[in-house]
Amino acid sequence: MLKIGCHLSASKGYLHMAKEALSIGANTFQFFTRNPRGGTAKDLDEKDVAAFRDYAAENGIGVILAHAPYTLNGCSADPAIRDFAARTMADDLRRMEHTPGNLYNFHPGSHVKQGAEAGIAMIADMLNGILWEDMTTTVLLETMAGKGSEVGSSFEELRAIIDRVELKDRLGVCLDTCHLSDAGYDIVSDLDGVLTHFDSVVGLERIRAVHINDSKNPPGSRKDRHEKIGQGTIGTEAILRLMTHPALRDKPFYLETPNELEGYAAEIALLKEKWS
Ligand code: FE
Ligand code: FE
Ligand code: ZN
Repeated sequence: MLKIGCHLSASKGYLHMAKEALSIGANTFQFFTRNPRGGTAKDLDEKDVAAFRDYAAENGIGVILAHAPYTLNGCSADPAIRDFAARTMADDLRRMEHTPGNLYNFHPGSHVKQGAEAGIAMIADMLNGILWEDMTTTVLLETMAGKGSEVGSSFEELRAIIDRVELKDRLGVCLDTCHLSDAGYDIVSDLDGVLTHFDSVVGLERIRAVHINDSKNPPGSRKDRHEKIGQGTIGTEAILRLMTHPALRDKPFYLETPNELEGYAAEIALLKEKWS
């Protein structure tokens, strides 16, 4: 069965998100753990969490994906900014144990002139400080577009981070189709080649989620501007080939396209109809 959802607002809580997901034909969803700019998180509402867990079980809502604020930078040159990223992520991960067994995705960070190698070391250090042995959440490194000095736009950089983390089995990867294309990976005409490369460097078993976005920009542009499915440089056919690929078809897929709910509902309906 296709696992598909989109990014939803968390402002009305978990149960509301689950109901909203169902109303647009989704069976999973993604949300920001707090204000995407990284403010303080609302107190966790235990009643809402309990109601969500029942509702999700009854309605077949599978694994959900929490997204860290995108402004966190665990490899900033400024120790206060690194510390803020570590504390925020540690707090998110503690809260996520109230909804056990789900996924937490983050952008590895931007090394800002320190070089990728220094960035990789700092990101791994941060993870080593916040992961713990019996946590139930899997933490995902997102493949990045390579905008500015982003770390994680190559499979080799992701591998280098994973290599330095002690609790490797708590880690996975979230592919993002817009970011892959913008980073120069040819998922339109050589998907097999890209996945073979990923397998040899990182291992396909690390892929735990996929962001499905079209891109406003040509392959290799390193821009990171998402487009609606079928209206960008990747196209519906290439997205569907990726979603039905034997290595990826069982993964949960999340739309992060520039849409309101109706637009997401239409994209989900289209992809469900064509996916087999
Ligand atoms: Fe992201
Ligand atoms: Fe993404
Ligand atoms: Zn993006």
